[in-house]
Amino acid sequence: MQTKPVSYNDEQFADLQMLRYRVDGFENLKPAQKELLYYLSEAALTGRDILWDQNGKYNLRIRKTLEALYTHYKGDRESADFKALEIYLKRVWFSNGIHHHYGCDKFQPAFSEEFFRKAVKQMPVEQLPLSGSQTADELCDTLVPVIFDPKVMPKRVNEADGTDLVQTSACNYYGEGVTQAEAETFYNAMKKENDPRPVMYGMNSKLVKTDGHLTEQTWKAGGLYGSAIRRIIYWLEKAAGVAENEKQSAVIRKLIEFYRSGDLKTFDEYTILWLQETQAQTDFTNGFTETYGDPLGLKASWEGYANFKDREATARTEKLSANAQWFEDHSPVDARFKKATCKGVSAKVIKTVILGGDLYPASAIGINRPNSNWIRAEYGSKSVTIGNLTDAYNKAAHGNGFLQEFVIDADTLDWLDRYQDLSDDLHTDLHECLGHGSGKLLPGVDPDALKAYGATIEEARADLFGLYYLPDPKLTELGLTPHEEAYKAQYYGYMMNGLLTQMVRIEPGKEIEEAHMRNRALIARWAYEQGQEEQVTELVERHGKTYVKINHYEKLRKLFGRLLHEIQRIKSEGDYEAARYMVERYGVKVDRRLHEEVLARYRALHLSPYKGFINPVYIPVYNERHEITDVRVEYGEAYDAQMLRYSRDYATLPYVNE
Ligand code: ZN
Repeated sequence: MQTKPVSYNDEQFADLQMLRYRVDGFENLKPAQKELLYYLSEAALTGRDILWDQNGKYNLRIRKTLEALYTHYKGDRESADFKALEIYLKRVWFSNGIHHHYGCDKFQPAFSEEFFRKAVKQMPVEQLPLSGSQTADELCDTLVPVIFDPKVMPKRVNEADGTDLVQTSACNYYGEGVTQAEAETFYNAMKKENDPRPVMYGMNSKLVKTDGHLTEQTWKAGGLYGSAIRRIIYWLEKAAGVAENEKQSAVIRKLIEFYRSGDLKTFDEYTILWLQETQAQTDFTNGFTETYGDPLGLKASWEGYANFKDREATARTEKLSANAQWFEDHSPVDARFKKATCKGVSAKVIKTVILGGDLYPASAIGINRPNSNWIRAEYGSKSVTIGNLTDAYNKAAHGNGFLQEFVIDADTLDWLDRYQDLSDDLHTDLHECLGHGSGKLLPGVDPDALKAYGATIEEARADLFGLYYLPDPKLTELGLTPHEEAYKAQYYGYMMNGLLTQMVRIEPGKEIEEAHMRNRALIARWAYEQGQEEQVTELVERHGKTYVKINHYEKLRKLFGRLLHEIQRIKSEGDYEAARYMVERYGVKVDRRLHEEVLARYRALHLSPYKGFINPVYIPVYNERHEITDVRVEYGEAYDAQMLRYSRDYATLPYVNE
């Protein structure tokens, strides 16, 4: 059958570009697999409002109000104010809230407060998120400072050293008046000494203060976010009924049990079952998962996706995971921090069929789970590379002029052209399926010991593991690289990104905040500094433009090995002071002059530094007994239409969650 031609690049606004991904191969799945993926997709979309509320307590009200204006405004829709409102709403949709999805800073709207108030008052009241007897004026009084005042809730996640990270972050994981010290004391008191199997304390709750007392409001069917969770359970129950095998059905039922009880021990049981189910072609994540959105790294944001295995591409990652022990044994870290036996590292290349919650519309391209340290140590981990998203990125990047602008010469450019996509994939595989899974904590080390620096150190560890092994003859032996020097494309790209081009994602005057960006800066700058004497990497100026020049690739590998040694030590020993030193010294600051230069060069290319995805639409085909016999995929839905449909069909929470 012919597939409809679809343009990969959709609309562009602010610093964002929308892409579409394809799920080729879906049509060849068995009808029961399609039905299962359909239910899991519904479950993945149903939790959307949870994330919006986690990201900030006014987000749902602001979204509803802006959508009312977008849909029903009767004034001049060509005016500068209305156009600015459109852009603002598209950014809010993209970020699942009023703060930048990556940088975490609050957006400044380019429409006036006066325009906003006037427009809101013209709306039919039933279109507005009014609580009780609230008037449109009162709603504006609540929302206006949140939207317009740069001093109110300026950052979603504040990681600036030396401030109260809880009080200065706008995320909604801690109630009014809770301080960082109180939250840390509260959770430290829960930890049992020398507990070899600690649950992820605080992961699925909001910590609030009432009458000076701290309590957790747990996210569960009968608790906070209950109305959303009960609807997720509805779809999961349907999914359990058509699971591919008994084990997968048990996984889904255990997740339902966890959503009902909120018991974190049940969550660990579910995680282990999920890890052990590796036979089915389909798989999913649904729930409270990553902790990047909490400055203390405890509370997990909600996300969901569903996928199926790309069997051909998976042959690649299976070679890596089958040799996990070899990589562990030969890594340049101290023997005390190595795993004696690598358990159950399973790796696959998948095609995602839907992105939901914190994976939508901006998504990761590689994922390694679980996040619980002891489960990883005892049961291993599941690692995926999302092949159909990588494809969409690569297609969008092809020939857009970016590399031509920033790469130093034609030879290097040619090398990148030939090998960058491939070595990127391989680096992602190494990062996810071996890097995160490698190493161990020394006995008695608190897994949260690195606190706010933990995420950056963990990402650096996984990246370095991949960088160190990319040139290894082992990869040629396994048939994973077509050329023994293909790794140079990744080394050049990595250093160029870490030293120069990732700065296009940072606003003038700001510092680096996001964990992955901090990690990339840390690695590139440390390697640059440590290799300065031997001129391993240089920053050279040509015609007023700065370029990265790598003189000694083998020496650069040695430097990556040395840094991996140190980063693994920091992680294994829980050395907070060293983590802080490394991150603050190498991962945070921005050179103003260089930043301005990079931004100016990038601006001239008219590209968007951030990309996100529009989901396909799944349409079940029913027989006369109302059973699903097939599921069709459609790709044509526009960005705004998709967002408005999700807000309508997956509205699961009250606008005010207090
Ligand atoms: Zn990672």
